Amino acid sequence: MFVMFEGLTPEEVKAIEAELAKLPPQQQDSARQRLASMRPEELKAMFKKVGPVCVFCKIAAKEIPARMIYEDADVLAFLDINPANIGHILVTPKRHTEFFTDLRDEEAKKIIVAMKNLANTVVKVVGAEGFNILQSNGKIAGQEVPHVHFHIIPRFSGDGHSFAWSHKKFSDEEFAKIQAEIVKNLTSGKKSAPKAKKKRELEKIKPRIPKY
Ligand code: AMP
Repeated sequence: MFVMFEGLTPEEVKAIEAELAKLPPQQQDSARQRLASMRPEELKAMFKKVGPVCVFCKIAAKEIPARMIYEDADVLAFLDINPANIGHILVTPKRHTEFFTDLRDEEAKKIIVAMKNLANTVVKVVGAEGFNILQSNGKIAGQEVPHVHFHIIPRFSGDGHSFAWSHKKFSDEEFAKIQAEIVKNLTSGKKSAPKAKKKRELEKIKPRIPKY
C-alpha cells in the first residue's frame, strides 16, 4: 500500500518504513495508514521519543492495535497474533524489559497472579484439556520479541504440539556440584542447602563445566 508521509525528510520516511517493516505483515497497512493520518510534528516527536521499535511497547502505548484481554497499571494481556491454539494469550509487563530476570519483584508477582486468573478463564472458555505456560529468554531460547512475555497456550488432545526435549546424562557428582553452586549463589529466598557433610565432600570435586 502506498501512503505519503507529508512534511518529513527522506531520512525520517526511511526510518518510519524501517520501523513498519518490523511489524507483523498483517498489521503493516493499518499502522501505515494510522501514521500517515498523523501531523508531521506528531510523527517527528514520536519517532524521536520511541527510538528502536518494540512491538509490545507499542501495544502497551496503544500505538498499534492488539486483541486486549486484560490490563492493569503494570500488566497487559492480549491474544497472540500467530496463535499455537485458540485462546493463546501473551502476558507482559507494560514497562519495557527484555528478560524475566529483569522484572521487578512487584511486576513479577502481579504477572503471576494475573496469569492464574487468565489461564483459569481461557481454559474454561475454549474448553481446553490443559495448558502450557512458556517463557523464553534470549534468541538462543527462541525469544523473538525482546520484551519479556509469557505464553498461555490452551492444549487439546491431537493439537499436534509437543514441548518435549531430549534428555542429557550427568553423573551424581555433576548433579551434586551444580546443586551446590546454585544454592551457594542464590541471593534471596529460602535456600535448601545440601547437608554440611555432603558439602565438604563436594568441595573436593574438581569443577568441570558440563557440556549442555
Ligand atoms: P516469542 O517467540 O516467545 O518471543 O514470542 C513472540 C510472540 O509474539 C509470537 O508468538 C508472535 O506471534 C507474537 N506477536 C508478535 N507480534 C505481535 C503482535 N503485534 N500482536 C500479538 N502478538 C504478537
